[in-house]
Amino acid sequence: MMPVKTTCAYCGVGCGVLAFPDGSIKGDPEHPANFGRLCSKGAALGETVGLEGRLLAPRVDGVEASWDVALDLVASKFRQTIAEHGPDSVAFYVSGQLLTEDYYVANKLMKGYIGSANIDTNSRLCMASSVAGHKRAFGSDTVPGTYEDLELADVVVLAGSNLAWCHPVLHQRILAAQETRKLTIVTIDPRRTVTAETSDIHLALRPGSDVVLWNGLLAYVEAHGGLDSRFIVEHVSGENEALEAARGFTVEVVAAECGLEKQQVEAFYRLWLRHEKVVSVYSQGVNQAHDGTDRVNAIINVHLATGRIGKPGMGPFSVTGQPNAMGGREVGGLANMLAAHLEIGNSRHRKIVQDFWNSPVIATKPGLKAVEMFDAVADGRIKAIWIMCTNPVVSMPRADFVREALANCPFVVVSDIVADTDTNAVADVLLPATGWGEKDGTVTNSERRISRQRAFLSAPGQARDDWRIICDVAGRMAFDGFGFETAADVFDEHAELSGLAGLDFDISGLSGGDYDAMEPVQWPVSRARNGGRFFGDGQFYTNDGKARMLALVPRVSPNVVSEVYPFLLNTGRVRDQWHTMTRTGKSPKLNQHIGEPFVEVHPADALRLGLEPADLARVSSVHGQVIVRVQVTDRVGLGQVFVPMHWNGLTSATGRIDAVIAPVVDPVSGQPELKRTAVHVEKFQAAWFGFAVSRQEPMPKVEYFSKKKVSEGWAVELAGLTAADDWECFAREMVRTVDSEVVSYFDAGRGQARIAFVEGDQVMAALFVSREPVKAARAYLAGLSDLSLGDVLAGCAGMGRVDAGATVCACFSVGVNTILAGIAGGMVSVEAIGAALQAGTNCGSCKPELRGLLAAQRPAIAAE
Ligand code: SF4
Repeated sequence: MMPVKTTCAYCGVGCGVLAFPDGSIKGDPEHPANFGRLCSKGAALGETVGLEGRLLAPRVDGVEASWDVALDLVASKFRQTIAEHGPDSVAFYVSGQLLTEDYYVANKLMKGYIGSANIDTNSRLCMASSVAGHKRAFGSDTVPGTYEDLELADVVVLAGSNLAWCHPVLHQRILAAQETRKLTIVTIDPRRTVTAETSDIHLALRPGSDVVLWNGLLAYVEAHGGLDSRFIVEHVSGENEALEAARGFTVEVVAAECGLEKQQVEAFYRLWLRHEKVVSVYSQGVNQAHDGTDRVNAIINVHLATGRIGKPGMGPFSVTGQPNAMGGREVGGLANMLAAHLEIGNSRHRKIVQDFWNSPVIATKPGLKAVEMFDAVADGRIKAIWIMCTNPVVSMPRADFVREALANCPFVVVSDIVADTDTNAVADVLLPATGWGEKDGTVTNSERRISRQRAFLSAPGQARDDWRIICDVAGRMAFDGFGFETAADVFDEHAELSGLAGLDFDISGLSGGDYDAMEPVQWPVSRARNGGRFFGDGQFYTNDGKARMLALVPRVSPNVVSEVYPFLLNTGRVRDQWHTMTRTGKSPKLNQHIGEPFVEVHPADALRLGLEPADLARVSSVHGQVIVRVQVTDRVGLGQVFVPMHWNGLTSATGRIDAVIAPVVDPVSGQPELKRTAVHVEKFQAAWFGFAVSRQEPMPKVEYFSKKKVSEGWAVELAGLTAADDWECFAREMVRTVDSEVVSYFDAGRGQARIAFVEGDQVMAALFVSREPVKAARAYLAGLSDLSLGDVLAGCAGMGRVDAGATVCACFSVGVNTILAGIAGGMVSVEAIGAALQAGTNCGSCKPELRGLLAAQRPAIAAE
């Protein structure tokens, strides 16, 4: 059984995947990103390729249409809008999940033929500050190091990165290295994430104080003789100003401003000083800030000042969120870049690109970045927009405003694989695209490694590859230059262009190669260079060849708390979901981990607000609100709350947290500050709570719901402000059952209702209602086929049944209750849990949580 070698659809680690004809998925043991490992999301890819919910034919105004009708309409509307209002009246909003070939032709069409640079990408939300920081420091958007450096380092600093959940395979590589040699892990994060719990040092700094911490490190290194003077003299400029700006940040000042103990700060600084091999990994916690670019440069400053860059086991290392954010950067998918890392503002670069494309025009000024782009949609400057492979009505800051803007935009096109999304709901034209497993192309991971995504399924319905859809529209707009026959043709052109300017990104050596057989390869690939690290030779891409250190003065975020909005909202990912859940939400396995949107609140704040675990809370800002489940935990600091970013308007009534986020952006990168908004938090005073399971997808109409796919149907959490007059009627409408027999139990005095819909001896659906949050053996009830009428009617909601609890190990469906029972029974290590319960023995994504559970139980066991 020969598998197809492809690449994971999710994060920027870019793991190699083997897809077998029987539908099974394994990690590719030969892929240099993962060497056979996969995390829980990658391992569940096979569960997400079904056709349920797919968009399989074009739709115009909600009605199925032929490709000819849809494409003619898109081309004519764009042509007409450009003719009447100019090229800047149209825009493309694209995605870091597009393949490089898709991205390349989209950028070519907008910048070389339409003549505008109004093409931006959801990668703007992910790593634009890293791009801007790289360019300020190196003169190019270059990631200097390789993944191997994380294993060779003596100290790995994880700044603003929940690596254990967001890039699990990289985290596993670091932990594996730690088992064989001494390697110290430092996590810098205001929140005590699972990553922080598995680190040697956790610096829970005050939100927004990152530049202070890194400036302090620079000052400390200088004061303790740690500068690499020779490297600085020969290869760095701006050092005097940067050092001068940092000098005031003594350990005492840093400790006070960052809200840390002086000893903690000193321990981190000493570690840096004593070990040459330090890698500083940074991710969204650094990038998604009003000063994200300064934070990136503050990190790079210290590496430049110590000459720790481009050598084995050392260097700054930006890790991207998305599978092809790097590919987008390479083709100019950001509004401020040209293709092949060339600059819009450089006339020589513009000429290179325009001559190569032989295109009628070339964009001469940067286009609108994501937040600006939707502002322009709202105020009418943009009159036609094409959104590809992304869901901005869920993921953009001020998402309700974005929805409103798109709803009022004269012409909105969306290419997607999914039929129903929050963004599709406001589109005039929907174009069905092929998805992972159906399309061919390349992606670039965080260490500059280009890998093939290969098709192993045929295109369903009328779905077409994105690059082909774009070329079809370009052809109908009477543009030549888009006559590509295959994805390989597009890649060849892209590779050839990259060799013309002599910049860092040069993959000209791949042009005309065997695309089908292409092995994962790290750029550059040219006559002059082949893979490896950048900048070890001290040569940078600035005019004078020297890297730049920047003088950084910490700036205060405009997102400040007030009496009305006294909490700082942080957002981020959970382990087993991806972006807006349109793919991972299809996997019952992945939904078992965390199946409901939540807000983490510090215990002291919860007490003050009258919030108890499992209550619901309203989190609101001037821009919007969500209602989410309360988790009382000291993972977050006092005055801080955390809500995950994934839930959309289809999986929850009010879980779109980006509706709450303020549209504050970093002035250099244009990246929104997704990790900080001042919010109000209050208890949602529900009159009733409910929990339901159903074989059919439930369609609740109620103030609060959150639903998820389970192995044999759906599970849904509910709450409302007024109790239903007729619970049977409410339940029947929600689970949409007509023929089933109804068996119910009511206790009006206690506000309880239990209703079962039964066919023969099978429970088709069940609803449990209570005045308090429903106590239920949820994991047990979700296995609908085991459910009996007795479970529904006797006692409450299956309590007393053996319930595995929330899933910790997604691969083997091992719940938290099972693990806790095992620990109480004498399992003292992750290995012992694995041996007895299998948890953690496949993908290993849950190992950090197993460690956390063991650590949390140790005091209790010791006390016995
Ligand atoms: Fe996919 Fe997980 Fe690898 Fe990321 S770490 S690429 S999500 S398997």
